[in-house]
Amino acid sequence: MFWADKLADETIRRYQSQIDDGKSIIVRDEKTASGKVHVGSLRSAAMHAMVADVLNERGVKAEFHFEINDFDPMDGIPSYLDESEYQKYMGHPLCNIPSPEAGYENFAELYGQEYAENLKEIGFNPIVYRASELYRSGAMNDLIAKALDRRDKIREIYYRVSKSEKGEDWYPLNVVCEKCGNLSATKITGWDGETVGYTCSSDTIDWAEGCGHEGRISPFDGNAKFPWKVDWAAKFVAKGVHFEGGGKDHYTKGGSRQVSEAIAREVFDHEPPYGVFNEFFLVGGKKMSSSKGNAATAAQMLKILPAHILRLLLIKTPINRQLDFDPEGDAIPVLFDTYDRLAEKTWSGIEDDDTQVFKFAHVPGSREENKRYLPRFSQVAFLVQMPHMNMEEEVSNMKESELNDVDKNELEMRSAYAKDWLENYADDKFIFALQESVPEVAKDATEEQRSALKLFADKLEALDKADGQSIHELTHEVKEESGLSPKEFFTAIYLAFLGKESGPKVGWFLSTLDKEFVVTRLREV
Ligand SMILES: [Zn+2]
Repeated sequence: MFWADKLADETIRRYQSQIDDGKSIIVRDEKTASGKVHVGSLRSAAMHAMVADVLNERGVKAEFHFEINDFDPMDGIPSYLDESEYQKYMGHPLCNIPSPEAGYENFAELYGQEYAENLKEIGFNPIVYRASELYRSGAMNDLIAKALDRRDKIREIYYRVSKSEKGEDWYPLNVVCEKCGNLSATKITGWDGETVGYTCSSDTIDWAEGCGHEGRISPFDGNAKFPWKVDWAAKFVAKGVHFEGGGKDHYTKGGSRQVSEAIAREVFDHEPPYGVFNEFFLVGGKKMSSSKGNAATAAQMLKILPAHILRLLLIKTPINRQLDFDPEGDAIPVLFDTYDRLAEKTWSGIEDDDTQVFKFAHVPGSREENKRYLPRFSQVAFLVQMPHMNMEEEVSNMKESELNDVDKNELEMRSAYAKDWLENYADDKFIFALQESVPEVAKDATEEQRSALKLFADKLEALDKADGQSIHELTHEVKEESGLSPKEFFTAIYLAFLGKESGPKVGWFLSTLDKEFVVTRLREV
């Protein structure tokens, strides 16, 4: 069963009465906008988006709410920014820090908007809101009062569930200092039911500088923020969340999920939402994991893969299994091949887990009538390197009929992504150039190899219909007669044309070349 179907089943089972009352199922995910968003976050986004998508597809109203968390404090400076410029903002809410680039209202908007835009491009259809809006709107006010009233209970939960000890003077809230704007450097000293007293000091926490101010302020309407685990619990309540999972790291015994669930139940008297963890999404390869600021980002993934292929990558592996992807290996051609295999199955009328994945790799509205000819990515990647070839003609030969407009669009798309892959990621073994004369390396052929190539040339010359299949059959015939091993024979051919020991399927490859040229080259060796 497709993993998202299972999660949707369980969501329906738990919230059947709300669904019967016509209420929407609320699915929520968030990302702290503290810098460029790492590609790993897409796994969590995919889980939430898919649950909402599957529910909607079944006629159950569901909304995917995505929060740009812009109210968290800056607790580290990304390596690609000037540390000396941002040091003074450590501990300030991200929404109150200037944007590193012009055109954005604040620091969080720069990174949050880009990521939200990526989610839209992938077709995850998020309803985007900001944590600062949630606090400033007053939606958290009652929960703030409750948490301050029941701070002893929260302290007890922290200790019971996660063995984390908080002092008796601890309050589960941080005020934004009225004087300097720091959030992490403040410490609440008292609560009278309407206002809190607080201090702002460099002694509060190691990494944030306080200003020494002491004041009294209402903790409501955006003046203060919960620490993370209380914050998570409060958002379950404030947003009325039905499904929300999270990264595996939050789901450990005594981890943040357990603490937040206990706070939701015991402090806010609210049953926490259903949710499971998502496993990690690891992107390998030197170019993607370089520490020099170009670590794999969600935006970068959308340059490497078209949206529906990225969507396929994100949903094809069960959400509780690790997903690894290395654009420098053969992962991209293999991913396209997977798409093609699922397409073929779907278009031949089969219905199973594979075809369910294929269906949800497309956004609503593009799930029907998408039949088209899918030229194999690896072959397209080869063809774009052969400037003498007419791409459309070659692909039309592969299809064995004329390409229509939809086919041509597909070919154009695949060519563009293939070029990008070859230029930026592909391993040297995928890079080919047709050699203008017999390459030096081909001249080392043995006597047996030479005579096999000559025999091949003679038979090819006599062949009436030199298409991929016939040439393929011919190569096997010649190989048998010559007594060479497959490796000895095929290596000799690749060396003669490409100067490399391997290449695309020989029959198909030679069929794309002029027959006379092929015969001559074989004899020249
Ligand atoms: Zn201050």
